[in-house]
Amino acid sequence: MQIAQMTHERLAEMLGALKLTSMRDQLDRLLGEAARQELTLPDALAMLCERELGRRHERRIEMGLSIAKFPAVRELAVFDYKAQPSLDSKQIKDLTAGRWIGLGETVLLLGPPGVGKTHLAIGLGRAAVSAGYSVLFTQATTLVAGLAKAHAEGRLDDKLGQLAKPKLLIIDELGYLPFDPDAAHLFFQLVSRRYERGSMMITSNRAVGEWGTVFGDPVVATAILDRLLHHSHVITIRGDSYRLKEKRRSGLVRGVGSVGTPGGADGGGEADR
Ligand code: ADP
Ligand code: MG
Repeated sequence: MQIAQMTHERLAEMLGALKLTSMRDQLDRLLGEAARQELTLPDALAMLCERELGRRHERRIEMGLSIAKFPAVRELAVFDYKAQPSLDSKQIKDLTAGRWIGLGETVLLLGPPGVGKTHLAIGLGRAAVSAGYSVLFTQATTLVAGLAKAHAEGRLDDKLGQLAKPKLLIIDELGYLPFDPDAAHLFFQLVSRRYERGSMMITSNRAVGEWGTVFGDPVVATAILDRLLHHSHVITIRGDSYRLKEKRRSGLVRGVGSVGTPGGADGGGEADR
């Protein structure tokens, strides 16, 4: 399909005005492809539309991933389930479809340091973005510091509103540091705001029974847990740190035993966390 320069320019202009930018930017290549394959006009048009839609979908995912602010790239595809026998791989795979997010449910990922909680949280978060959900990933300490700052500056309501927007809020590493009473109360307000409106995924090295200590107040902890556990999937990983296992395998460390179960004495102080 040889097109005159004038027609080409007009086409590019019109495609731009229609915001069909992928079609516009790849016009020569796409038309060349259509000609090579001797496509009929409807088939050629369908091919062009498919490319535009495909690129839009990719862009939406790229945008969603950047908005989510994941701290690293961790894919579920490379997660080694054999290394974590206490984990039900089917349960994780079911969660990747994101139905639980549509229903506003909660996922709690519990276990000692290094067992893959953050990896799974990022992987499930990325799957949620691919499924079209808005996601925000944050560390518990950053989250609470942000809430406290907003509170001190008299804009707590705005901040809570902002944190209530994403369909899925992922809070990583709850329990590594205990909350002061004000922080616990701010966290409670966040949970209440999102309750039955948006999903949350929380990772913690503390068993749920120890959250009273994490929040420094058993009454607030109960109120928080009451809401979080109402529609929830609790996944407890009982196993060895994957990092230590890797190091042991390569002979870097010797004789380091299991790092314990959630709430064990390990406290989560691995340097490369
Ligand atoms: P946690 O958040 O439970 O402390 P991480 O998710 O940070 O643990 O895991 C520690 C490191 O080990 C990460 O680099 C992670 O990608 C890797 N890892 C952990 N478990 C697995 C696994 N089962 N398969 C592959 N990589 C894993
Ligand atoms: Mg982690």
